[in-house]
Amino acid sequence: SAEAVPQAPEDPLYGLKRAFLADPSPNKVDLGIGAYRDDNAKPWVLPVVKKADDILRNDPNLDHEYAPIAGIPTLTSKAIELLLGADSPALKEKRTTSMQTISGTGACHVGALFCARFFRGNKTVYVSDPTWANHNQIFSNVDLPVVKYPYFSKDTKGLNFAGMKAAIADAPEESIILLHACAHNPTGVDPTVEQWAELADLVAQKRHFPFFDCAYQGFASGNLAKDAAAIRLFVERGIELIIAQSFAKNFGLYGERAGCFHVVTDTPETATRVASQLAILQRSEISSPPLYGARIASIVLNDPALFAEWEDNLREMSGRIISMRTALRAKLEELGTPGTWNHITDQIGMFSFTGLNEAQVLKLREEAHVYMTKNGRISMAGLNTKNIDYFAKAVDKVVRE
Ligand code: PMP
Repeated sequence: SAEAVPQAPEDPLYGLKRAFLADPSPNKVDLGIGAYRDDNAKPWVLPVVKKADDILRNDPNLDHEYAPIAGIPTLTSKAIELLLGADSPALKEKRTTSMQTISGTGACHVGALFCARFFRGNKTVYVSDPTWANHNQIFSNVDLPVVKYPYFSKDTKGLNFAGMKAAIADAPEESIILLHACAHNPTGVDPTVEQWAELADLVAQKRHFPFFDCAYQGFASGNLAKDAAAIRLFVERGIELIIAQSFAKNFGLYGERAGCFHVVTDTPETATRVASQLAILQRSEISSPPLYGARIASIVLNDPALFAEWEDNLREMSGRIISMRTALRAKLEELGTPGTWNHITDQIGMFSFTGLNEAQVLKLREEAHVYMTKNGRISMAGLNTKNIDYFAKAVDKVVRE
């Protein structure tokens, strides 16, 4: 009977959000959120998304029929171009297949399911230590074992590249290697282009199967091509791979669940066969994907003027986050806060691994009403010109205690 179902713990991020909402302090700062906030700590609807929404609502032919199983073709075709570049040989040679998914999480799930069913190599997923917490359960939900490879160095608060390489070299041939395409969550630490090139060589040599999770393209640096550089490098090496793509952050379409899953193969015939199997997986799980967010993204991606405006919007979001990194580091250095703070500006994207320990994190919550995850991760988007002084002083205090 259902009575035998044990109680599961609450998702830590949602628990943190609840605690923040319940805190009556006017000074409270939410640095747990995984969504962009403007300088007034408010959600930001991208101006280009508002325009696309107007176009959509004024379309007299708009209906609410089912999307095709693989999603809206005008979205999926542009979505893969965004990742690989429009002139990618893989596209010209039709060695790719794409399917719309329930945002990035759905894309990761479809990828996990695809690997569980069809992967013939070592069915173990190697993930960075640490990684986005959801990765662990997404893979274990389809019974794929998860093994960690070293990633974050506590000493430098940067990449443990030697450790990462050694683990990938030691993994059995043809293992599944999960890689964050850019703006690693939760650390904000990415390999350099040169390091990516070394990793691509290693992955090719070991015939590993890369699983790219791409949740922050354009949001990290403000430059779509730059944020896809790692994926492009692997594809240029002729490595077969899969990509989970989210439009949550870069379009601000969090709740609309727009994303895609892509497979880049050696031959067009393989791509066709993969597509046929993906269609069956999709049909049994969601039948057909949701329309609204996909339509918005498709309108923007297919219109050169709107696309250019989207790039402006991306630069505005990433620019504000980068300016908060600069300001936070400067303030901590000005205060003479013990430790080094260059990692704040070295790291990239939505999140920063501050290096604060669990005791300090809890103190910040109790004494300063600052909410962040226990691992010391802060969402840079939660900082703004009004609360950054307050936050820096609070950090200074707990570090000295
Ligand atoms: N992967 C990573 C690494 C993420 O940070 C996120 C967003 N938190 C996702 C995937 C997917 O998010 P969504 O399902 O909202 O697109």
